[in-house]
Amino acid sequence: MSKLLQISCLGHKVLRQKAAFVKEVGNREIQELIDDLIATVKDVNGVGIAAPQVYQSKRIFIIASNPNPRYPNAPKMRPTAVINPRILSHSEKKVKDWEGCLSIPGIRGLVPRYQSISVEYTDRKGKIRKRQFKDFIARIFQHEYDHLDGVVFLDRLESTKDIVTEREYLRIIAKTTKNEWTSACR
Ligand code: ZN
Repeated sequence: MSKLLQISCLGHKVLRQKAAFVKEVGNREIQELIDDLIATVKDVNGVGIAAPQVYQSKRIFIIASNPNPRYPNAPKMRPTAVINPRILSHSEKKVKDWEGCLSIPGIRGLVPRYQSISVEYTDRKGKIRKRQFKDFIARIFQHEYDHLDGVVFLDRLESTKDIVTEREYLRIIAKTTKNEWTSACR
């Protein structure tokens, strides 16, 4: 049975460390961590979560894009475990869009990210995967990838004026969605 994990908050050193390469993907401990990360990200209405966000300094993250109250416009995607990722190439173009972070509750930022990326990673079965992502999924990938290097989205902002409270963010996106907001920070 998977369990829900505690989420580390900005200020804790685990979020500022370079996470360690994962050698034994098939290990029970790693497989359990992946299951727990998937259960946890679902529980808190996240679209992605990285192992350092649950106090595990390992190069693993989950992409779990799904429309939910925190991200009403997110595309649907099966939760995917990404291990030891590398960004092989990226578009020249960067686009700015809103991001939040489970480890930085209460605020959103307008973050520039590459529009598309070509990546390589190990999946949870130990197989090397090469894939291309664009738009929102590419954004999640870059956000979570940053967590493995001790970088958070605030570090990527062009200006502190691109930070808003979650409450104001909701008013901003309310123009394009009818979904009801429920607070999901914890
Ligand atoms: Zn984050």
